[in-house]
Amino acid sequence: MIVYKFGGASVKDAGAIRNLYSIVAGAQLPLVVVVSALGKTTNALENVVNQSGRPSHEVDIAIASVLDYHLQVADELLGQGNRAAAWISDSVAGIRDLLSVAGDRGPDWLYDQIVSLGELWSTRIVEEYLRKRGLRSRWIDMREVLITDDRYRDANVIWSESERRLRSAVKSDDAEIFVLQGFIGATASGNSTTLGREGSDYTAAIAANILEAESVVIWKDVPGVLNADPGWMSDATLLDNISYKEAVEMSFSGAKVIHPKTIKPLHNRGIPLYVRSFLQPDGSGTVISSNESSTESVPVFIRKENQVLLSLLPNDFSFVIGENLGKIFHLFYRHGIKTNLVQASAVSIAVCVDNDSDRIDALTSDLRGEFRILYNKDVEMISLRYYTEEAIRKVTEGKKVLLEQRTRKSVRFVIG
Ligand code: ADP
Ligand code: ASP
Ligand code: MG
Repeated sequence: MIVYKFGGASVKDAGAIRNLYSIVAGAQLPLVVVVSALGKTTNALENVVNQSGRPSHEVDIAIASVLDYHLQVADELLGQGNRAAAWISDSVAGIRDLLSVAGDRGPDWLYDQIVSLGELWSTRIVEEYLRKRGLRSRWIDMREVLITDDRYRDANVIWSESERRLRSAVKSDDAEIFVLQGFIGATASGNSTTLGREGSDYTAAIAANILEAESVVIWKDVPGVLNADPGWMSDATLLDNISYKEAVEMSFSGAKVIHPKTIKPLHNRGIPLYVRSFLQPDGSGTVISSNESSTESVPVFIRKENQVLLSLLPNDFSFVIGENLGKIFHLFYRHGIKTNLVQASAVSIAVCVDNDSDRIDALTSDLRGEFRILYNKDVEMISLRYYTEEAIRKVTEGKKVLLEQRTRKSVRFVIG
């Protein structure tokens, strides 16, 4: 079994899905194809959720525009009156019902019920198109296969149950290509869940682990993993092969080309991950495996934008290490806030986190009794691996460095 994963950009319109077909048609079989939502649909659905308290005509406009987009793509690929379009229209009509019961279940539940629809719609279109073109494909509903806990928006996979279900879902005499949704799953009682934004890469790794796949290929709009985001540094160069360890460090630091959770399930079974370009499918791309990286001669630049630097100082001047440390990080976890960088001194701790003001407000109100809290908003975290003095100059010159953390191989700056 091989696993392919296609992100939003690779299915953004009918032309992109035709290109997906030509990549899939040339693949070794059997094949699992993990697909994200079309284009920027997840953002559009987040917008629907955020508008849920607003006047109903505004919500209607947001819903109608997502529906139009999908129907247009479906009709262009599959013709008028296709089954995918009918299915999607029914599913979109259900959004109103979800909004009306939202109050009882909480905002994170509502988010997952609505935002998870994007992947269901995209996979209906893609799978029906592959079948129309003569491939022996089958659509799999990950809400019946990938079972998670009910930590909505950041659900944890229940492996034993998911293993049993996925293995049985891909047992088949008639299909050889299985199309499944990235990013989504469901609780055992049938509530949809999501695995965290950009989580479709992680789904591909979960499927590969469970099915003991030979390899995973994630098809991106870049030639592979480069030594910087090419949107940030136009002279970025391709890294031919990197180790699992290097990949996980890069993605955890913010290289958004791979979701950080992707590496562990692959590492655990020694499954190689190829990152290749859907725009130039013949390119060699990057391979991530247990082999040593060939990157150590080139500095790698990683930028994580939209960060907040929080400094916590115990009011009673007690040491922050020890009992306080456990208390602080337990609260970060409970509020669903990931710590991107931590630096402690005797009586203060600095933590860099994503700028999610609702979660940060909830956290700080729990901490405020015992800690004084200082903020630096609108900061970014820049990490350099295999740094040189020249590379450091390139990212810090003329900038205000609020915090620096250096080891032998890497250095991180929080920049205001
Ligand atoms: P997907 O469509 O699969 O969700 P993403 O948009 O999440 O793909 O990831 C691809 C993007 O990652 C690229 O367009 C690029 O801007 C960005 N990126 C960030 N860091 C890197 C890097 N080191 N190498 C390649 N791409 C990177
Ligand atoms: N569609 C989801 C998102 O945009 C998951 C993914 O694309 O990986 O976050
Ligand atoms: Mg993505």
